[in-house]
Amino acid sequence: MLPKYHALVGLFFCAFLVLIAIQNTITTQFLAFLAVVWLTNLLIDVDHYIIFVYRTHNISLRKAYKFFYDLLKQERKKPPKNYYLCVFHTIEFVAALFFVYFLTQHWVVEALLVGVLLHIFTDLIAAVYEQRIYKNTIILFSLIARAMARTKTKKLKVKRTVSKVKS
Ligand SMILES: [Zn+2]
Repeated sequence: MLPKYHALVGLFFCAFLVLIAIQNTITTQFLAFLAVVWLTNLLIDVDHYIIFVYRTHNISLRKAYKFFYDLLKQERKKPPKNYYLCVFHTIEFVAALFFVYFLTQHWVVEALLVGVLLHIFTDLIAAVYEQRIYKNTIILFSLIARAMARTKTKKLKVKRTVSKVKS
């Protein structure tokens, strides 16, 4: 989903949390919590930008935006050949954050977790809505699934070359 929609969804979500909390007093820590949730929800897409800079050696934010925007448009028509590894969007990253929260019980980590979950959830909803869910979409959201798919294609390649040598 595009960053502007993430910003908007995050705003509504935070407003909703304020409404829920309205009976209780709204503390500065609660407002700081909301700020971290909103920013995290917006900024985890930075993994896309890192990929773009790493692959193209180009630091243009505009070009990176256009690159992934075009990719998204293509995905609506047919499954992509390859998904880029957006590490902050993975189940494993969420699990690691959960673990850190379990250890620290810190409100900042809690806010990070809420922001990341909100972002991934809305990304998923958008993908379903725009019919961008394919058989291998799970690769996008899991490091383990990605690794498993990789070894599978490697094995397939080995099999193919072996049968070629035999025939
Ligand atoms: Zn995203």
